[in-house]
Amino acid sequence: MKTRTYDLLVIGGGINGAGIARDAAGRGLSVLLVERDDLAAHTSSWSTKLIHGGLRYLEHFDFRLVAEALAEREVLLHAAPHIIEPLLFVLPHEPHLRPKWMIRAGLFLYDRLGGRMTLPKSFATRLDGGRYGAGLKPRFRSGFVYADARVDDARLVVLNAIDARARGAAIRVRTALEGARREGGLWRATLASRDGSTSEVSARALVNAAGPWVADVLGKVSGAPVGARVRHVKGSHIVVPRVHPEDHAYILQNADKRIVFVIPYQDRYSLIGTTDVPVDDYAHPSISAEETDYLLELVNAYLDRPLAQRDIVWTYSGVRPLYDDGALDPSAITRDYVLKVDAQAPAAADGGRAPLLSVFGGKITTYRKLAEAALLELRPFFPAMKGAWTATAQLPGGDLPRGDRAAWLVDLCRRYPALDAELLRALAKRHGTRAPAILGDAGKAADLGEDFGAQLTEREVSHLVGDEWAQSAEDVLWRRTKCGLPMSAAQRARVAAHLGS
Ligand SMILES: Cc1cc2nc3c(=O)[nH]c(=O)nc-3n(C[C@H](O)[C@H](O)[C@H](O)COP(=O)(O)OP(=O)(O)OC[C@H]3O[C@@H](n4cnc5c(N)ncnc54)[C@H](O)[C@@H]3O)c2cc1C
Repeated sequence: MKTRTYDLLVIGGGINGAGIARDAAGRGLSVLLVERDDLAAHTSSWSTKLIHGGLRYLEHFDFRLVAEALAEREVLLHAAPHIIEPLLFVLPHEPHLRPKWMIRAGLFLYDRLGGRMTLPKSFATRLDGGRYGAGLKPRFRSGFVYADARVDDARLVVLNAIDARARGAAIRVRTALEGARREGGLWRATLASRDGSTSEVSARALVNAAGPWVADVLGKVSGAPVGARVRHVKGSHIVVPRVHPEDHAYILQNADKRIVFVIPYQDRYSLIGTTDVPVDDYAHPSISAEETDYLLELVNAYLDRPLAQRDIVWTYSGVRPLYDDGALDPSAITRDYVLKVDAQAPAAADGGRAPLLSVFGGKITTYRKLAEAALLELRPFFPAMKGAWTATAQLPGGDLPRGDRAAWLVDLCRRYPALDAELLRALAKRHGTRAPAILGDAGKAADLGEDFGAQLTEREVSHLVGDEWAQSAEDVLWRRTKCGLPMSAAQRARVAAHLGS
């Protein structure tokens, strides 16, 4: 039977696989991306959700990573202003942890390493009695304020997949790579779908973007190099009712030199994380009692109203697939990405030199640069491939006039005066300029079908299923949206019944 031949077969629908598929499709390559579960089902939806340079990496002298990530922050703010927004961080000063001069020097670099920036520069501030000290113990008198950005990580993945598809890529979810071998200068891959069926495809190049499973995928590929250097480091978060009413986040220092963020989340909550725990079981990460205690103890050293176990409304954990650079301390292992290309010589016994590119490490923030670097590595195999293009391109729904989310929402409310402003705000945040395509000619709430609660309607769910590869309630409630968080158990069950999942 004749199998379809693609230029690129991408394994993994996390941010790195989706980013590479998008970039490659835009350069004219034919691309198939396969994701075993749902898009962003793993690490890419369990992050701290920051598009940041990583202030603390300066302490590890990771200047290249910080500079690239800061420059990317600007690029991504422009590309997707509906799902990425600036966020101020307050760093309360703790004299016994880091001296003021060191923090000032770090922030001076942080303000400048990324080149031209639209975000405000850092400054020192008083905390006691002012809004930048909201929720903190009164003993914190002074601190520093700097800017970074936050992202809806799972939606960033989906938007990359949508754009990849718009540029010709095929995206297959619930489809796993079972095995691959080189044959006649091509890769021949066996794919398994959830329904139990298998299929074969051929590809000129294979991209292993399987995140924590990068070594497992290498194990499925005949002739792949063995001994992948990957370290699995778990990070957990807790979500609690909002700890202060202001818009800023806190970056809190611990005596072990680690830092923990407290970030305003989904209007009503605060997101607190993260930990750094080396793990062997990376398939099913969950928060341990020790991690919960660590996070609570750390934030309670700062917060005026202490948090307890009973305040926790949700937790999640993810596993960083870090490149093993030999560092002993898990917090010190580089967050930079490493790409490894295995391309056999033409004279090899199986006749092929089809390349296999494996992705290690990385950050959500630098996924676009990682994709560019991956395609640079693959360029020798695709000499007719077009050049880099994503630096100035916007992601679906990101073309808000002047990048102004507030003005866009006002416009949307004017166009749909009979619809609830909170519902329109939720849609604008998730879909940007694509929101009207979902709303269509809805003149009243009932036109949007069943109201599932938490600003989720039947009309949007149909869109998420039909256009965004969602299949189950979990896809809809915890990845395409975060409506699962404020919903009651009965409301979540209703969505599951609606989707038959
Ligand atoms: C706790 C934590 C906090 C973080 N915070 C931040 C942050 O604030 N900012 C930031 O920039 N970065 C952050 N990161 C880093 C960032 O989240 C990761 O670098 C990134 O998400 C990794 O993406 P990925 O695509 O490589 O992996 P994944 O998202 O895990 O995607 C890999 C995919 O491959 C699929 N797969 C595996 N095997 C197969 C197969 N055989 N066939 C088909 N598919 C397969 C998996 O199902 C999975 O969906 C954080 C990471 C963690 C863990």
